Amino acid sequence: MRSLTLVLLSLSAAILLFTSAHAQEPAVDLIIRAGTLIDGTSDRPIKNQVIFIKGDRIVKVSGDTGTLTGFNVIDLSNSTVLPGLIDSHTHIFLWGEDPAKGGYDANILKAGIALRAARATFACRRALEQGFTTLRDLETEGAGYGDVEIKEAIAEGTIPGPRLFCATRAISSTGGYNLEGYAPELDMPKGAQIIDGPVEARKAARQQLDHGADWIKVYMTHRSWVDKQGHLVSQPTLTVEELKAIVDEAHGWGKKVACHAYNGIGLQRALDGGCDSIEHGLDMTDAQVKQMAAQGTWYCPTLQIYYEDWAPEDTPAGKRDRARAAAHEASYKRALQAHLKIIFGTDIGGMPWTESIAREFPRMVEFGMSPMDAIQAATSRPAEMLDMKSEIGTIAAGAFADIIAVQGDPLKDIATLEHVQFVMHNGSVFKNELAK
Ligand SMILES: [Zn+2]
Repeated sequence: MRSLTLVLLSLSAAILLFTSAHAQEPAVDLIIRAGTLIDGTSDRPIKNQVIFIKGDRIVKVSGDTGTLTGFNVIDLSNSTVLPGLIDSHTHIFLWGEDPAKGGYDANILKAGIALRAARATFACRRALEQGFTTLRDLETEGAGYGDVEIKEAIAEGTIPGPRLFCATRAISSTGGYNLEGYAPELDMPKGAQIIDGPVEARKAARQQLDHGADWIKVYMTHRSWVDKQGHLVSQPTLTVEELKAIVDEAHGWGKKVACHAYNGIGLQRALDGGCDSIEHGLDMTDAQVKQMAAQGTWYCPTLQIYYEDWAPEDTPAGKRDRARAAAHEASYKRALQAHLKIIFGTDIGGMPWTESIAREFPRMVEFGMSPMDAIQAATSRPAEMLDMKSEIGTIAAGAFADIIAVQGDPLKDIATLEHVQFVMHNGSVFKNELAK
């Protein structure tokens, strides 16, 4: 009996040795030599690393000994390598609607679903070529469940595009969304699903989840203006009870709720209703920031879009635009100081998809965020929000091989991220202007 045990023990030891010897040389399809690696989670960059890739995953990351042979190599040893970026607030079905061409309304009234899908396809390609390998796309603006189908087209390889988290139609209340200002006799289409009352709210959430929504997007404020005292005011939309019904339903399905909220009553209802992320948060009070910290609410500020295309200064819209930007800077700084979980988002689509997505980075840094923090706001932090921690937004064993590279040092000049020259998504090279 004792000798049998000994035999079994030595046999298992031999198997262990055999397998561990093989584990040191994982079967790989290719390796990437990274001159500098910013891995999305570490506080500092690491020099001279090798990333081993098998299929769509990273299997190992280790120091570059310079002795690796027999591998298919992508040499990025003169570049800075990072995880694929995540934009947590986009609209692939918006087109940066030019007011001179009819603006938002023309998109819904004149562009058919095929034209809109073609434009969304262009948007997805644009995101990928700029190094954004994941998008949380926060509603289709009247294009129904088109985002879920674009996601399907990407997944089946019909079109190139990033990993999509789709919010489908979004939810607001009567008087809480475009199209508006038409004759009351007309039953105009709306850019969001309109509900009144907790029963309708829950039903809308169920319908959207049933049709493939990964997130629910809710409008908690709508119009905004400047009052006689010069303060920014925004019109609240859903009640706390309506939002609670949506949050309760979404959480039951294991999904989260993103709330568009500027300030005031609507923002307060968003927090009291238990929303998971605040979008824009132009004017959050200290108490609201404190409540967000306590509740673990994510904050997606989308700064840059509020700093361009201002209306003339002496018009009501011009006053509003300036008041929004001024409040936003202070609000963002408050959030930074309180260490809220800030994530990178742009609202692109609200501005044309031909523009640079990474333009948001310099604005985040200008207002006080460190470049490394800004990079993590677009990598590991939103990965956690999207329940994809360790799978995206990081370069580590087990993660999807979403890898980008730039020339230069984004920690010295964050605008370097506006010139992504290498993009790998799910282990496939999509763009390579750097290496042989
Ligand atoms: Zn938006």
